[in-house]
Amino acid sequence: MTGRVIVKSPTALATGVNMSDYEEECSRFTWQEARRALDGLPAGQGLNIAHEAVVRHARGDEPNRVALRCLDRHDNRTDVSYAQLDERSNQFANVLCTLGVEAGERVFVLMPRIDELFVAAIGTLKHRSVLCPLFAAFGPEPIRQRLEIGAGSVLVTTPTLYRHKVARIREHVPLLRHVLLSGDFEETELPEGTSDLGRLLNEASNQYDIAPTDPEDMALLHFTSGTTGKPKGAIHVHDAVVSHYVTGRIALDLHPDDVFWCTADPGWVTGTSYGIISPLVHGATAIVDEGDFDAKRWYETLEREGVSVWYTAPTALRMLMRAGPAMAKEHDLSRLRFVASVGEPLNPEVVLWGEEVLGLPIHDNWWQTETGGIMVANYACMDIRPGSMGRPLPGIEAAILVRDEHGKVLVDQDGKGVRAKSGTEGELALRPGWPSMFRGYLGQRARYESAFAGGWYLSGDLARQDEDGYFWFVGRGDDVIKSSGHLIGPFEVESALMEHEAVGEAGVIGIPDPLLGEVVKAFVTLNPGFEASEELRLQLIGFARTRLGAAVAPRDIAFDQHLPHTKSGKIMRRLLKARELGLAEGDTSTLEVEA
Ligand code: ATP
Ligand code: MG
Repeated sequence: MTGRVIVKSPTALATGVNMSDYEEECSRFTWQEARRALDGLPAGQGLNIAHEAVVRHARGDEPNRVALRCLDRHDNRTDVSYAQLDERSNQFANVLCTLGVEAGERVFVLMPRIDELFVAAIGTLKHRSVLCPLFAAFGPEPIRQRLEIGAGSVLVTTPTLYRHKVARIREHVPLLRHVLLSGDFEETELPEGTSDLGRLLNEASNQYDIAPTDPEDMALLHFTSGTTGKPKGAIHVHDAVVSHYVTGRIALDLHPDDVFWCTADPGWVTGTSYGIISPLVHGATAIVDEGDFDAKRWYETLEREGVSVWYTAPTALRMLMRAGPAMAKEHDLSRLRFVASVGEPLNPEVVLWGEEVLGLPIHDNWWQTETGGIMVANYACMDIRPGSMGRPLPGIEAAILVRDEHGKVLVDQDGKGVRAKSGTEGELALRPGWPSMFRGYLGQRARYESAFAGGWYLSGDLARQDEDGYFWFVGRGDDVIKSSGHLIGPFEVESALMEHEAVGEAGVIGIPDPLLGEVVKAFVTLNPGFEASEELRLQLIGFARTRLGAAVAPRDIAFDQHLPHTKSGKIMRRLLKARELGLAEGDTSTLEVEA
């Protein structure tokens, strides 16, 4: 991919990173030992995410430490301390009790990124009902679909979202017993069949003791991004908090005095695992930004709030790159210490841009809704090979398994998955048993079981591992292109195109070809200042050929300023393909619609 290595200097390591030696940490790490850093419920009554995230800080030494710094769309700022979040979420748990909601029932939260979302999330976990956050930009049908799959009993939302999105589907979700509306409004405006959450909270006691919680009790229901098809509801349990703690410590290098900004919405697993749980478990201050992406505002937020650890996504970083280096240089980002990215392959160009423009390389990491937490990462103490996802988290065994010609993982006579040689592409697999591993797809037992084979959890992604143990993403199993006997990962082609100054983003697919099996086609978004033309098209094809060789380079390139993305920012290659080939588009509930 690229021969460049970003070497971590000894001075960077001397500044007190949580893990200063990867190999050493791997050799002594055990999950049992890691669990000891957490409290557990008093009197050995189990493990509850909300206790670890909020209660132990609020009732400990520093109740007034800022847990959440909430920024509204006009940059007004409200701080919420751990003690305040504890009290308010106690009230929420008491509201659920008063309504007769039982532990294990599903509480859906369809909210903008404001403090009440966190109150509902933590209160739900305290009450031991199951938190299911939904992205507020979903339309009525995706909301209905998820409420139905999850058999939601309670929905927390705002009057506006209710009016525009929920009211018309209400009769189609008969299991939904309670709709709680949060916000400023007159009681008389309350739609029929809804309750005023603010009033209920104010009437509820702010004292609440968490009942005994089995670490295996279901805590969260997260829907996947729907990049490859209909979203699946992944079940996670309270024990996941052990992974949230460990990954926050090791992969994000979180410290209690950090100001941490995870830009993902809690409607996606990243926004819950790392936007809510992990920073709070570490006693850090989490930035909660109600606004949407805006390059200038984001730089201002990083500067003004003194963000020290930032966790974002490749699409956002590519947009910042497109906004140009001058904008970054106008801001003092000296408080920023560590930057990480997840959700999509991170092109080497972007890692190097970080070093050049932010003064910090971007640390890519890989995981999925199903894994509940970071699995493979670039660490503060480890040299970065731009384009690589890094190495497995201590405590995680990852491997590349050989796939047969039908895409099925090969199993030897003892029933064990066959490992691929280093440098060879295959299925990225994880040894089951880490705390935040999903425990099922709700209502889809067979699908869950088919994700395991030969003693491994199969991620569905193709990757390779180099001789030093670094993992390199090739593509999603479904996106990989087979052309005259070669296996081509779209990521490799997209990254090569992005090295051209005109290209801001690229999406690559395979087009059926009678002779070659498939040929590569690329859709590219141009950077400001570049115009689509036949000349540029040919230039880009030539550019890709020089870098990749004729067998791998795109045969054809089309210009497209609006590549289809999921609402969480991922390029939907299956849609590019369906549109190109005139096929049915399938489930588009998570498609981001251009404003
Ligand atoms: P669906 O399963 O519904 O198709 P999805 O797989 O996009 O959607 P998520 O669980 O949100 O849903 O995303 C996980 C996937 O995102 C991974 O399996 C991988 O394909 C991709 N991904 C995440 N992080 C990275 C990364 N650092 N590099 C490459 N790909 C990544
Ligand atoms: Mg997936």
